[in-house]
Amino acid sequence: MLNGPNFEDTLVAYKHLDDKALIRAHQIFSLMDQPILARVGPLVLELASRLGLPVSFLLRKTLFAHFCGGESLQACAALVESLKREQVGVVLDYAVEGSQSEESFDRCCDEILRSLAACKAYEQPFGVFKPTGIVAPNLLQNITEGRTLSATEEESARRGQQRFARIAQKAEELGISVMIDAEESWLQDAIDRWVEALMRERNTSRPVVYHTIQFYRKDRLGYLKQLLKTAEKGNFYLGLKLVRGAYLDKERERARLQSYPSPVHETKQDTDNNFNTALMFCWEHKDRISIFSGTHNEISTSLLTQAVDRDPSVERNDPRFVSAQLLGMSDNLTFNLARNGFRAMKYVPYGPVKAVLPYLARRARENSSITGQMARELAMLRKELARRKSVRS
Ligand SMILES: Cc1cc2nc3c(=O)[nH]c(=O)nc-3n(C[C@H](O)[C@H](O)[C@H](O)COP(=O)(O)OP(=O)(O)OC[C@H]3O[C@@H](n4cnc5c(N)ncnc54)[C@H](O)[C@@H]3O)c2cc1C
Repeated sequence: MLNGPNFEDTLVAYKHLDDKALIRAHQIFSLMDQPILARVGPLVLELASRLGLPVSFLLRKTLFAHFCGGESLQACAALVESLKREQVGVVLDYAVEGSQSEESFDRCCDEILRSLAACKAYEQPFGVFKPTGIVAPNLLQNITEGRTLSATEEESARRGQQRFARIAQKAEELGISVMIDAEESWLQDAIDRWVEALMRERNTSRPVVYHTIQFYRKDRLGYLKQLLKTAEKGNFYLGLKLVRGAYLDKERERARLQSYPSPVHETKQDTDNNFNTALMFCWEHKDRISIFSGTHNEISTSLLTQAVDRDPSVERNDPRFVSAQLLGMSDNLTFNLARNGFRAMKYVPYGPVKAVLPYLARRARENSSITGQMARELAMLRKELARRKSVRS
């Protein structure tokens, strides 16, 4: 049996970062590790986003430089090339959130189409989009909750679904796949329906459209099993991005305020078990399901690499098994996976600094709420800083 990747190898993990970028990464994670800053920071970012406060100049060379590829597709070019040199794939993610008008949804859709073309030009197999970038959240909520739509809403839903369809069609024409992000549970049923329809239409000979399933939700393992039955019956392929889920606190808070049972697991361990069970379920059905494992969790990541290595019929670089992390996070996983021949990718968010503030706030909030992950990032960065210092002295 082959040796698995060594996730402790910081030389490989941070080779793409020069000393300046490494020190900046260390400073950012150290700040997020401060309890007060960790609590206040995301709130300030959210407030700045809502009130349009001029914070771009503070962020451009700090959080933004660390977690985002650039303000435009062109600005991401050097980063994409540097990741490609390390055999790390790139998913260009136009991370603008919070648009409200049909015109801004159309503009966002056009940019997503350009990002797909850029993925193709960089020989990358995936594009991605976030549903609420191209459809109003309250419309998705009304559909999910089964409300009767007004004539205007009907028209907006038609236009929204058309944008989904244009993006999927473009991905198919380009010969790549497109992933559709998962959102809060009160928006998700509408997204599920639209994505399922697209998969049925486009995934007849390969997984063009990838759905996203969040396994912090208690109902999603059942949903996954049902989805597989539907795909078998309809004879189409499933492309699935598996994630734990990004909106834990929001989900719990809404459930508490509106007095309904929380849709998310009570403990981290339950979420972990659910994610890992789902991952192995998909693995067992790899004839029909292609896996995109979006996680920074080392145990889950190893589960997939070990399954690949145990199966003599599967190569490490089989396109059905991809592991991916967000730019600026868990480089020890991404780069060591790639170095060992596994399919490893980075989500690279991009967009004007002001427009990606909600994304940055989520990064700050999420990183500061995962004590284990934060400690791990910091330990890795310190190890590499010390290693570089000792090489020099
Ligand atoms: C490539 C990629 C794409 C992504 N796309 C999406 C997306 O489309 N939609 C989306 O929602 N998220 C998305 N995410 C974010 C993802 O859902 C997680 O929020 C994030 O990756 C952290 O989880 P983890 O598996 O990396 O690691 P871990 O650090 O092992 O897990 C942290 C996660 O566990 C869960 N958790 C933490 N504490 C508890 C608790 N007490 N009880 C129950 N559960 C708990 C939460 O989901 C938390 O985010 C994506 C992540 C990646 C890497």
